[in-house]
Amino acid sequence: MKLKTIVLPALAVAGASALLTPPESHGFSTIGGSLGQSQRDFRVYNNITGGGANNNTVIDPNFPGYDGAEAAIWKGCIEWSSELHGGDGAGDPTQAIGNGGANFDSSWQGNATSVGTTDQNVHSQISGNGGSTLAFTETPISDGWRIRYYEDPWNWKDGPGSVSVGVDLQGVACHEYGHALGLGHSTSGGATMFPSISGSGDAQRSINGDDQSGVQFIYGVMDTAKKPHIDTVSGTNPIIITGFNFAATANEVWFTQASAGGNGTPVKVTGLNSDGFTITVVPPGNAGPGDLLVKKGGVTGHKGPSNLFPWSPAAIPTDPFATDLNIDIGTGFGAPSNSYGAAAGSAGAWNSFSPPVAGVPLVDLAGDATAATISTSSTGGEFSQNNAATIGDDEALLDDLEDVGCTPGVSTSTWTINGMAAGVYDVYVYGWAPDDRTGFSTDITVAGGAMGAQNSGAFTWAGSHVEGGTYVVDTVTVAADGGAISVTTLTNTGCGSINGIQIVEFTMPSCGTSVNYCTSGLSASWCQAALSSSGSASASAASGFDVIATGVEGNKDGLYFWGTNGRQSNTWGSGTSFQCVAPPVKRAGLLVGNGTNGGCDGVFSQDLNALWQALPAKNPGAGAIVQLQLWYRDPFNTSNQTTSLSDALEFTLCP
Ligand SMILES: [Zn+2]
Repeated sequence: MKLKTIVLPALAVAGASALLTPPESHGFSTIGGSLGQSQRDFRVYNNITGGGANNNTVIDPNFPGYDGAEAAIWKGCIEWSSELHGGDGAGDPTQAIGNGGANFDSSWQGNATSVGTTDQNVHSQISGNGGSTLAFTETPISDGWRIRYYEDPWNWKDGPGSVSVGVDLQGVACHEYGHALGLGHSTSGGATMFPSISGSGDAQRSINGDDQSGVQFIYGVMDTAKKPHIDTVSGTNPIIITGFNFAATANEVWFTQASAGGNGTPVKVTGLNSDGFTITVVPPGNAGPGDLLVKKGGVTGHKGPSNLFPWSPAAIPTDPFATDLNIDIGTGFGAPSNSYGAAAGSAGAWNSFSPPVAGVPLVDLAGDATAATISTSSTGGEFSQNNAATIGDDEALLDDLEDVGCTPGVSTSTWTINGMAAGVYDVYVYGWAPDDRTGFSTDITVAGGAMGAQNSGAFTWAGSHVEGGTYVVDTVTVAADGGAISVTTLTNTGCGSINGIQIVEFTMPSCGTSVNYCTSGLSASWCQAALSSSGSASASAASGFDVIATGVEGNKDGLYFWGTNGRQSNTWGSGTSFQCVAPPVKRAGLLVGNGTNGGCDGVFSQDLNALWQALPAKNPGAGAIVQLQLWYRDPFNTSNQTTSLSDALEFTLCP
């Protein structure tokens, strides 16, 4: 660590003889150096106890989240900003704040938890008596600074109005931060950087023309053709930032940290695209009340950060655990519109971001904040490519994605959504490569789901989503409020992709209805048996619930079997069928095949209500949730099984 021992000439209180009118012809001076983008943060360790430094307990909405010494120092520092804070500079009773007019803006980072080292950009009090010295700034500044305010003999005041007795903390903070950004003392009597104050020093809250000349000399006069500029900040989640001079890609939004501590690095959302005039950003969970700014993509110098706007996170609803969510991974083609339901048919607001992410908060279908956040354990970045076949909302979802990697069987990514409400969910996961739509595929596993790893991709888009082509779906249970849903991808062929996730709260089939799940196997004649039902399953009715299988390989015997232990998706030997009913299972009687040999015209229909009345030991009982499947003979199947299975039905028995 670099040891710093240079202490600037301190700001002193003027003695009676020193405060004669100084000559006006002299101007600012500099101390050498300037603050790069990585040193724009400033924090307060509020050990400032003297007098009335924390008397102001009214938080101004333009300085959200902070009162007392923090608010006074925040205002004092950002007086040097390029433009009026928040567009109008409101929030201070004595002046409009933000008058630097230079390529210089700083980032308020709230509270520090210690005075820090001399390069950690923290304001704090130092114990002891400063004599005639009010405060000092420790330099050099190029890799940071520290500002100390002497405890004695001063009676520090935080205003916020004019301070007549004591010393105005805001005015002194403004002077000392002038040193931190590279200015020495000015000989101009009305300048904030004049080496001494008169009265309380509250006049030094407002920089004058000589101070402006100084900050503009170091950082350059504000370049309105290049420096990004914010006009408005609207919305809550996401936030819509409008202005100009935003880059097409790689913009960042810097927020104030929500919690005390850290090392001063702003809370950042990176990789944001813009049309030059608008940036849409989902505020991170660790962003708190304070200021935001846009850091222009690709600009590393003083013209990178924009002007400052106050911002405060929206209140989280009282019952914030998430249920239904739409998530678009990748921002290259924007976010789908709110009317887009995709494969789940679940229209509403889409969360959109560029991977990887850590703890990004998620909004529900109504666009409201939730407690849910999404994180990646992987480092796969965004990939996007315009597939000519996809357009509109399909393109927004599918043509940008996380690139899982290009080592089949090795490349993997895991996405975790925390903060879900307890419940049962259908989880739709999109895995489709817009650049190699036929060659690339991804195995997708929803942790705790019945289906295990399912393959998605290797599919030519033809205008609509197809299970196994653009997405897979599985059902999982979140046991308690605040639980997680986790999705893992594994590259199967080529390069793996994950384009998005939809989570839909699953409603158990009410009695009288049934739902299909699982995938039907291919028979020797390439038949796929499909199940449906007619009527209501009942524990007591004598008849009236027919389960129907169509598309069965012709003239082959079969039987229905069922269980009440949930779904599964286990391979059936080396064939293409899946065993979709968790054991143990019960069986109905053998049904004699019909249809023609080699055709797919076999049909079975059986009234299970009648069967359960005849065989009470096999009756699942009222309220039972039943999974059912058809098994049939398939002697010419080339797998090691000479039988095949249909898809599956799930239903609830009525009384
Ligand atoms: Zn000074």
